[in-house]
Amino acid sequence: MVNFKRAAERLGLPVYIGNYRHARTDGRAIFIPSTLTQDDDRLRALIHEAAHIVLGALYTSRPSRAIRELEAEAAAAAVCKALGIPVGDSKLYIKAWIKAVPASVRRANVERAAFAGSIILRIIGGRDEIQEAAD
Ligand SMILES: [Zn+2]
Repeated sequence: MVNFKRAAERLGLPVYIGNYRHARTDGRAIFIPSTLTQDDDRLRALIHEAAHIVLGALYTSRPSRAIRELEAEAAAAAVCKALGIPVGDSKLYIKAWIKAVPASVRRANVERAAFAGSIILRIIGGRDEIQEAAD
């Protein structure tokens, strides 16, 4: 089973835990608030921020915040499910942002989220974990 520490190591990016208001990334490092104390919560935040980084490389121009959050969370939820990590409030988060995203771009949202999710799953979830989660 993948845990926060191992996932952070596998990402190969600097990951900082500190006095941050929210989890965030600047595209090169990931910042996790120390108020997240449970491993699953930190892991979920890490995966969501990693999704922002991968997705950022796919955009030809910077989309709305709603699109960025929707796609990052959809990717993160898929990765968490595949790895057997509880998805937490993921559905609520997706519901909140999806309202501000036109349905006409939904296919692009799904394609990018699926691509980002598959990349992250390969990076942080070894094959063992993937098979373990499928049992
Ligand atoms: Zn986000």
